[in-house]
Amino acid sequence: MSATHHRNLRDGRSVWQTRPMRALPETVLHRDITVDALVVGAGISGAITADLLSEIGLAVAIVDRRGPLKGSTPASTALLQYELDTPLTLLSKRIGQTRAERVWRRSKLALDALRERVQHLNIDADCTGHGSLYLEGDVLNEGGLRAEAEARRNAGFETSFLTPSAVKETYGIGRRAGLFGYGNLSADPRRLAAGFLGAALARGARIYAPVDVLAVEASRSFVLASTDAGPTIRASSVVFATGYELPKGVPRSDHKVASTWVIVTKPQPRRLWPGHSFIWEASSPYLYLRTGPKGSIICGGEDEEFSDAETRIAATPAKVSALERKLGHLLPQVKASAIGHWSGAFGISRTGTPSIGPVPSLPNCYAVLGYGGNGITFSMMAAQLLRTAIGGKHDPDAALFSFRRSW
Ligand SMILES: Cc1cc2nc3c(=O)[nH]c(=O)nc-3n(C[C@H](O)[C@H](O)[C@H](O)COP(=O)(O)OP(=O)(O)OC[C@H]3O[C@@H](n4cnc5c(N)ncnc54)[C@H](O)[C@@H]3O)c2cc1C
Repeated sequence: MSATHHRNLRDGRSVWQTRPMRALPETVLHRDITVDALVVGAGISGAITADLLSEIGLAVAIVDRRGPLKGSTPASTALLQYELDTPLTLLSKRIGQTRAERVWRRSKLALDALRERVQHLNIDADCTGHGSLYLEGDVLNEGGLRAEAEARRNAGFETSFLTPSAVKETYGIGRRAGLFGYGNLSADPRRLAAGFLGAALARGARIYAPVDVLAVEASRSFVLASTDAGPTIRASSVVFATGYELPKGVPRSDHKVASTWVIVTKPQPRRLWPGHSFIWEASSPYLYLRTGPKGSIICGGEDEEFSDAETRIAATPAKVSALERKLGHLLPQVKASAIGHWSGAFGISRTGTPSIGPVPSLPNCYAVLGYGGNGITFSMMAAQLLRTAIGGKHDPDAALFSFRRSW
């Protein structure tokens, strides 16, 4: 029994896992401890949360049942975008224009904060700025993209509409209009998370692993976490940053765990497209690509609604072939054969927005369900919202992401 669900999070070896990295110091939990904040989960969400909480002077313990950076984070393709999977026009229809614009702006703020924090902490994670090309598809056609461009501009986001001939001329992609967005970021997600964990450790935080949080007893004054290691952890606040292994008892009607696949090609710096922008589609499911180490191409998609790992693994050969075929069709000048591939569990939410905040009926406990293609941007958003909440202050955007929201 554990406080969170167990899941096979990924399969295969991502391109980041083939790169050597210095191990982070882990401590054995051999006695009861008391801290200000317990962060459950040492992936990118727990890492940024630990960084921000330790920076405001809290004593932080981070625990992980597998050890640091062994969950979903190393499988991420790490296109760090503020542009949500759900276009602004469609999100406006679902939750109203004012709320949709606030969600989008908050996403941009989180991405900017991520970039600034990486610079401030001098994190070496291959962070590079990119534009993004968003191609018409079955979710938005050319007219839909024009309307989306206007909606984004009206909300303050610099966005250019590209006609099919402009897309063809620049990228060689035929018969599809596009939107061009600015100011996104790519990274090595493992090093990124390690950088944030390192910053928290330098301020006295500790990583205890392997430690599984089995249950929490929450009261108005403190939370007591029992662990499979034996000792307990007493904390003023507990943050569940447990990725797709959701905490039990947290409402998640809006959220589902699905499956996704990724391929990486051989390095081909001379065949890449201008500006090395991200390329993704206004389709469901969508194909997406970015450049990777040494000029390789990382291409993902082919998402399926099932979350069972055996089915995911059985589907991998067909999914790899489909990604190769689609990449080759989109960009005929590149070598689309995969030299590596991996797959993983992947969160989706009906609105493409995350749930972040206090867990209803568990005082002083908070959870981060940072779903979808913007997962890492939402990790920063979560860390900022939770820093404010745990610090006893009010964030005017908190209700947009709360577990109690009604949409
Ligand atoms: C293939 C793929 C591609 C993706 N591409 C992108 C992308 O391009 N851009 C983007 O922004 N996002 C992307 N994502 C999403 C993003 O990677 C995730 O949102 C992010 O990595 C989740 O990080 P996390 O820290 O929340 O979870 P994790 O990295 O899974 O960390 C959670 C940790 O919690 C631990 N844990 C769970 N329960 C317990 C417990 N009871 N006790 C102790 N420890 C526990 C687990 O062991 C795990 O290590 C992608 C995801 C996948 C799988």
